[in-house]
Amino acid sequence: MVARPARGEDVLLAMRFDILTLFPGFFVGPFSTSILGRAIAAGLIEIGVHDIREHAAGRHRVCDDYPYGGGAGMVMKPEPIFACAEAVLAQDARRGPIVLLTPSGRLFTQQVARELARHERLLLICGHYEGVDERVREHLATDAISIGDYVLSGGEPAAVVIVDAVARLVPGVLAPGSLEEESHSGGLLEYPQYTRPAIFRGWAVPDILLSGHHAAVARWRRERALERTAALRPDLLARAELTPEERRWLAERQARADAAEASETAPPTGAVPRNEQG
Ligand code: SAM
Repeated sequence: MVARPARGEDVLLAMRFDILTLFPGFFVGPFSTSILGRAIAAGLIEIGVHDIREHAAGRHRVCDDYPYGGGAGMVMKPEPIFACAEAVLAQDARRGPIVLLTPSGRLFTQQVARELARHERLLLICGHYEGVDERVREHLATDAISIGDYVLSGGEPAAVVIVDAVARLVPGVLAPGSLEEESHSGGLLEYPQYTRPAIFRGWAVPDILLSGHHAAVARWRRERALERTAALRPDLLARAELTPEERRWLAERQARADAAEASETAPPTGAVPRNEQG
């Protein structure tokens, strides 16, 4: 697989996304607005949306059929998907991962987005109905990805999620520095953000953010990021990039929280536990 070449002195290399779908109309809105729309207009990313049905045989261009072995629903046939992928790959010499979107794939994370963004091309296959003939996963796809532990009606929303998360990592798509402190960039959730007004409906922005003390602001933000991650996503802390002081700070904070909880649940001093009362 060809990795995306390094950025040249003043040349930004475009990344190409190809999406194979039965519902090309789904993508009109998401790819024409905001960051993605601007990135396409600037030539930083290219997105091709390809109708699998155009590659189906016969007058009715049938793309699905009953599952072998019985069961509910229809399964997407392999022939039009292979034919569509082969035609799309032949359009451009660039190569990259061929990803089947499926709830039974590996979980999409920021780490996976970074991994995909290293390539110069990404091809995404959207399933529908009960899913896709397994030979697509075995003999065409090089990867199978799920965007979360839930089931969508089709792979189209998953493709938008992946294109968005990967495209914003392509050099030039975001302003310099925008990615550095985002949630998941260093393995932590982001600190709380505020903008004007300083007081809204009586709720004030934390004083420290108005102080102009950059080092104190940076420390406050780091602590809030640590706290928020510990409270909401403690699973992320094991792999987060933390200093020994930060790990100690979190351990002390956890010990204080455990002690507070224990004192709340402990019976009042002198009280006799119910089962010991005569
Ligand atoms: N019967 C399939 C199963 O249990 O794994 C679910 C099929 S789902 C209704 C139809 C299509 O939506 C899938 O083929 C896949 O392309 C897409 N899809 C659904 N959930 C997804 C998820 N969490 N991540 C990525 N794609 C998903």
